[in-house]
Amino acid sequence: NIKEPTNLNTIADEYFRLAYHGLRAKDKSFNAELVSNFDEHLPLVNMVSQDVGRVLLNMFTNAFYAVHQKQKSVGGDFKPKVEVSTKVLPGNNVEIIVRDNGTGIPDAIKDKIMQPFFTTKPAGEGTGLGLSLSYDIIVKAHKGTININSKEGEGSEFIITLPVA
Ligand code: ADP
Ligand code: MG
Repeated sequence: NIKEPTNLNTIADEYFRLAYHGLRAKDKSFNAELVSNFDEHLPLVNMVSQDVGRVLLNMFTNAFYAVHQKQKSVGGDFKPKVEVSTKVLPGNNVEIIVRDNGTGIPDAIKDKIMQPFFTTKPAGEGTGLGLSLSYDIIVKAHKGTININSKEGEGSEFIITLPVA
């Protein structure tokens, strides 16, 4: 658990596929378009890569889950899509965005989703620990930030920033 200069693009790419194939292994009917836009000039970030990897895996899994839920309720016309992008921000920060066109987050629960054990998933499909752990890893341990934009019925966007130096 030592911080090391890490290429965020590489771990994001790896966990993006892992999350997708994990969901597809459980439900072969699930399909989504995966889009990635990685900044080739992204500087290395000093991080505990297993920990940040867990954060990304949870965000991707949440995103795929949300588009899958919407696919089940809307049906054939809906085109599930999950996007990941990275970029350099001014002021020595990098940003990674995970965006989905899934169910979105109802306003009534927006202030609860970061709490430990808060989940809207049935038992066995979610523990509700992913986002609270993400807060500990990104904000407390790496001095980064997490921001969320979401609209019920339209989708969600999770934005992580991490300091480079
Ligand atoms: P879990 O995935 O085990 O439920 P998380 O902490 O990862 O726990 O997420 C908590 C809750 O936040 C989820 O149950 C869901 O209600 C909501 N959520 C998180 N990400 C998304 C997303 N991309 N789209 C819609 N809802 C989301
Ligand atoms: Mg989760």
